[in-house]
Amino acid sequence: MTIPLYLHNAYLKEAEATILDVIKENDKKWQIILDQTFFYPRGGGQSTDQGTIFTDNWKGKVSQALLKEDKIVHYVESDQPPSVGTLLKMVLDWDRRYLHMRLHSAGHVVDFALYLMGYSPKLLMPLKGDHGKKAVICYQGTIDKDIREELEKKANDMVAQDLHFSFRLTGYEELKKETIYLQDGLPKNKPLRLLTLNGVGSVADGGTQVNQTSEIGKISILPVERKDGMTFIHYRLI
Ligand SMILES: [Zn+2]
Repeated sequence: MTIPLYLHNAYLKEAEATILDVIKENDKKWQIILDQTFFYPRGGGQSTDQGTIFTDNWKGKVSQALLKEDKIVHYVESDQPPSVGTLLKMVLDWDRRYLHMRLHSAGHVVDFALYLMGYSPKLLMPLKGDHGKKAVICYQGTIDKDIREELEKKANDMVAQDLHFSFRLTGYEELKKETIYLQDGLPKNKPLRLLTLNGVGSVADGGTQVNQTSEIGKISILPVERKDGMTFIHYRLI
């Protein structure tokens, strides 16, 4: 099992880890399992982290991290494999990660804004989000009114208020009580993370977030798309 350091501290950029396993992918690519990692594995609409890992006499480039059961697999480019049992150093591509954190937190601010405006989760039930280059949040349900301008203003007001994101690990039953909505398919026998935007509300979330909404910067909401009983809120950082 890999300890997911990113769940506890999204601002950790350098750390050490021990190599638990190395599996050959091809002559220049290796799957590496570590005892702990801050590389966020792609999931929940958030892209993979990248960076480098190295020892005194070996260096590899982490191009992708994926969660497989309770292990995080690092896909590492290097001419040679490192030795199992070695202690290595990890350095995160922070610019890439920080952009993903800002995009991801922006998505949650937009979602919380819809909640404060009274649309989510009753009229618009959050289904999923993609917080990459073409960021979008998908909702079950539609409303007739054009909410683009009102939503953009509300989201940017929340950025300007510099609200604090906090989180803690908890169980399914408590999440059910504390959250404004709970998505389907969450494991009931594992620790889950409760994300709270102070003064607003809480949701279940396992991705990386900024500490303060002011770090997000200005949010632009694109024309709202409605299709097949669903609403798609596209947003950008500007
Ligand atoms: Zn999220």
